[in-house]
Amino acid sequence: MLGNVALTMLTLLLLQGGLAAGWLIAARALDLSRRSARHWSASALIGAAALALLLMRGWAPDWAAVVLGNTLSVVALLGIRRGLLHFLRQPLRDKECAAVVGLTLAAQLGCALLPEPFAGPARVMAVCVAMAWVLMRCALQSYPALKREFGERRAFLLVSPQVAGVALFLLRGLIGLVPGGPALHALPADTPLNIASALLILLLTLLLHGHLALMVLMRLVRRLRHLSQRDALTGLYNRAEWNRQLEAQHRWLGRFNEPFGVLMIDIDHFKKINDTMGHAAGDAVLLTAAQVLLASARDVDVVGRLGGEEFGVLLPRTEQMAVRRAAERLRQLLCDAETTWRGKQIKLTVSIGAALCNDADESPAHVLERADHALYQAKNTGRNRTVVARLAS
Ligand code: GH3
Ligand code: MG
Ligand code: MG
Repeated sequence: MLGNVALTMLTLLLLQGGLAAGWLIAARALDLSRRSARHWSASALIGAAALALLLMRGWAPDWAAVVLGNTLSVVALLGIRRGLLHFLRQPLRDKECAAVVGLTLAAQLGCALLPEPFAGPARVMAVCVAMAWVLMRCALQSYPALKREFGERRAFLLVSPQVAGVALFLLRGLIGLVPGGPALHALPADTPLNIASALLILLLTLLLHGHLALMVLMRLVRRLRHLSQRDALTGLYNRAEWNRQLEAQHRWLGRFNEPFGVLMIDIDHFKKINDTMGHAAGDAVLLTAAQVLLASARDVDVVGRLGGEEFGVLLPRTEQMAVRRAAERLRQLLCDAETTWRGKQIKLTVSIGAALCNDADESPAHVLERADHALYQAKNTGRNRTVVARLAS
């Protein structure tokens, strides 16, 4: 008959098998964070092997069931850490991993030399401290990179299972040192402390892998959002996202009465660059223009590529004269910029149509129409100039 602890361990073993298969499917079929998913799959398999060995205590030789079982438990956590560091493009620190495995193995073998009432608890203590160490290093190493990618609150959420794991293993390992505290027995002995520990380890495994899956999903969503909002060549907002931002500016005007400006910027005779120097040279010029616009716009300005060689800039909180000044400044900067293409310098000029929206009753589409009309006038009156549309009201 299996005891409660052995049953919980068996459940955990099956769960680890399922997690190994799940990560393998994520890596192979869904092509999601391949190398990290393979690490997490291998980690779950190693965890399952460790549990199988620990469950064989009493039947299998001590060195296999306890020494190898405990050491593999630590290796499984190192696998999670290595996959996570890989995911975050952090140094993998394999020497440290090898040292932890070596020390765990030495501690497990060394504890066998202790007289019997002490050998078992000492081994539990040693493996728990090693597991707490690995999880603590994992949390400390991953947190800064998680914070950079997902922000402080989400990073904290993502490392919380690791922090909980540190507390759990330290508590389990050190409880044996508390005078008058419960006696420490190796798993799968059926003691109340072991039942609680096994259940908490089961929960921790679920949380650890659940949070890894959540992290992969969060990166995927961010990438998809980025792809749907950005122009592939320049990285600027695409037309759809720029239009959404225009509507947001318009709502802001309605609520806080803050006028905003719209610039439509079109490169002059761009087709000539393509025709004489090739499409790739044209792409390089578009990139230069995008970089100049991004670098010289204010933080609050919204720069987008509206299509082809046409860019749009939204200027929040502004007025008519400032719109003209901003447009002229950008036109001059673009005029001064040079693109080096295969040793040749390419210069460009732009025409700009500008419009100020200071009346919430005017629709965003109408402001655009006025800016577009002004651009048309700039083109028709000689190019390389700015035309500011008259106010709508
Ligand atoms: P204008 O001064 O009247 O604006 O003349 P233009 O030559 O700049 O304008 P036109 O509309 O005649 O040509 C724009 C060209 O931009 C045509 C198109 O092939 C090219 N184009 C559109 N998208 C891209 C792109 O992503 N890369 C490159 N290299 N060319 C592009
Ligand atoms: Mg053009
Ligand atoms: Mg054009």
